[in-house]
Amino acid sequence: MPTSLSPECLHHCLHGEPHLTDIERFLISLFLKPRLRNSIVAPGWSDHWASLLGTAPDEVLTNFQRIGLLRHPDISGQLSVKFRVPELADLCRSYDLHPRGKKDELVSRLVDKVETSLLQRHIGTVDALECTELGREIGESFRSEANSKRATAERAVLDALTNRNLLDACKIMFEYEAKQPWPRAIGADWTRPDKSRELALLRELFSQPSVSELELLAAGQALLWGKEPAEFLPKRSGPRRSKTAEERAVEIEARKQATIASQRITLRGYLSNQDILLGVSILAGSCCEHCKSLSGNYTFDEVPQLPHEGCTNPKGCRCCYAPLTSLSFKHLT
Ligand SMILES: [Zn+2]
Repeated sequence: MPTSLSPECLHHCLHGEPHLTDIERFLISLFLKPRLRNSIVAPGWSDHWASLLGTAPDEVLTNFQRIGLLRHPDISGQLSVKFRVPELADLCRSYDLHPRGKKDELVSRLVDKVETSLLQRHIGTVDALECTELGREIGESFRSEANSKRATAERAVLDALTNRNLLDACKIMFEYEAKQPWPRAIGADWTRPDKSRELALLRELFSQPSVSELELLAAGQALLWGKEPAEFLPKRSGPRRSKTAEERAVEIEARKQATIASQRITLRGYLSNQDILLGVSILAGSCCEHCKSLSGNYTFDEVPQLPHEGCTNPKGCRCCYAPLTSLSFKHLT
């Protein structure tokens, strides 16, 4: 961590030379919009940040302020960080201002029409930070690099899946995740050589009969990246419009395929641990009445396949398996 940055250093940083580490540039990019300092330094997050930064995040943020990359936001920034839209609308009402609109509109209305000292009294103290011009350049260059790396990785995964090189698809995703300054799924090891779970998921998925290629590929990408299949279906162009029935059907089918594959693999995992598990629970959450009636504990012999055949949830069955251990059993009785 540099304790001070000369103009030359900043020039290097802006052009991608490693005076700031990736995790430091990522941290700066989080302040492209005003943000509470506490979202980084609060207990819980702080330790994780410290392990990635190699220093207490509090020190790093203070240093970024000192060298002119972050600053306290002005009154608009403070308003937007302190209040949610309904609270801003209330504040507008209390000054006889029009209470409708997007957050930015409400904020600028208040700033235009109400004296700063009054607003400041409503805000009280707020410990927030935002990028300076310089910080913004660093944050935005980090973000655009990150976006293009992500797009490249996603394209490579898609190619591999299209050609049914399932192991390659897993490897590409792992390689990408391992290089992320803030890895997905805290505690996951993206450098592990064993990709058997991911590979099993994809094999299970791609062995489904009579599924359209579009749905299969979206489901496969979703399983690998830990996202919703809808994100990998063709993007609708033009102005925002509601989805057509056909688009919704494709989305639901892709999601169903991803769910079937992951539930089968999960159940298979539990079955191979019969020596330490008592059975399997099915959790229905807020799914339909039919599913709720089937939620509960099952022995390994009785546990049904998910998704439930008779589910009436229009978005598809949301039930999931959970391992039934002696502990959870005791808890339930
Ligand atoms: Zn259901």
